[in-house]
Amino acid sequence: MTATRSTRQRDVIARVITEAPGPLTVQEVLEQARTDLPTLGIATVYRTLKLLTEQHRIHPVTLDGETLYEASGRGHHHHFSCITCGRVFTLNVCPVQLPRGTVYPGGFVVEAHEVTLYGQCPECAAVRQAGTRN
Ligand SMILES: [Zn+2]
Ligand SMILES: [Zn+2]
Repeated sequence: MTATRSTRQRDVIARVITEAPGPLTVQEVLEQARTDLPTLGIATVYRTLKLLTEQHRIHPVTLDGETLYEASGRGHHHHFSCITCGRVFTLNVCPVQLPRGTVYPGGFVVEAHEVTLYGQCPECAAVRQAGTRN
């Protein structure tokens, strides 16, 4: 019975992360998975995240010193962090014109880059605009 339950927990947690619009904190994973698993505890979430990471289904992302988790295989993308609500979104656009192999003065050969954008998510931007109009 235990195996069946942990398989279901793993499936729910994997789905929550796959369907999210961006990487999730452990707390967000817990809250969203509790919709389907009301008795889910934080220890199980940590254990499951570790397992899914080992299976390469998800991977950790460090943003502002916090570890979040996102589904693997999303290709090249960047993150947008909303400074109002604190949610992080995945953007499938690249604002950086920096081909792999670019050499900077001094002989620095670029192989990859990471960019995090900060601002207002669509929801927070809409609230802000509504407020401006009044
Ligand atoms: Zn927001
Ligand atoms: Zn990029």
